[in-house]
Amino acid sequence: MPERTYSILVVEDDPAVRNLVSTALESRCYRHTAVATGKAAIASAATSDPDIVLLDLGLPDMDGVDVIKRIRTWSNMPIIVLSARSEDADKIEALDAGADDYLSKPFSVGELLARLRATERHLGYREEDALPQRSVFTNGGLVIDYAAGIVTLDEAPLHLTPMEYKLLCLLAHNIDRVLTHQYILHEVWGASQEGDLASLRVFMGTLRKKIEDNPSRPRYIQTHVGVGYRMVRV
Ligand code: CA
Repeated sequence: MPERTYSILVVEDDPAVRNLVSTALESRCYRHTAVATGKAAIASAATSDPDIVLLDLGLPDMDGVDVIKRIRTWSNMPIIVLSARSEDADKIEALDAGADDYLSKPFSVGELLARLRATERHLGYREEDALPQRSVFTNGGLVIDYAAGIVTLDEAPLHLTPMEYKLLCLLAHNIDRVLTHQYILHEVWGASQEGDLASLRVFMGTLRKKIEDNPSRPRYIQTHVGVGYRMVRV
């Protein structure tokens, strides 16, 4: 089967960044369309049904977050936000609105292409979701047997608390995606105890001690300072 070519919708009003992104995409033979406004982005997303959207948040006619919200009313197409640096609140808002990932500006072409590849892998998994759900998750030496509720690392069984297990499964289910603190708290602790960031940090610390060779330089679970956590495919 020939390798699939993904189509990308680029939404960016800054011509310099738009050209940089277009050139990078052309170098890897991506099909792509570039638009400069939120309205054009929504129209293009609806008519051309791209595989992945690269979205700037600061657009001349509307907020990028509102573009995400609009697209999410009919589509789960992956959206990667291109965000200005050190605006954590904007990134969190965008991820909570339904963005799949973000890149801080200025970003390198190498990182952009790597994020696209990660998103493509994720798309591949989504297509597989139509098949019966896999009951075993594998990432490097980490194996979660969901049916049995057993986690092993390099074939040695891990003894996780129920909370650590829940946290690990949530990250594994969303591999390669940044999960915000708010989202994790809501999913693991439920709405009743939202906002307990300190507990999340404690559980993340104990989980890392169990799954990371060097918890201060984690391999499996990345920290996105001020935003949340991501399980990385190793
Ligand atoms: Ca902009």
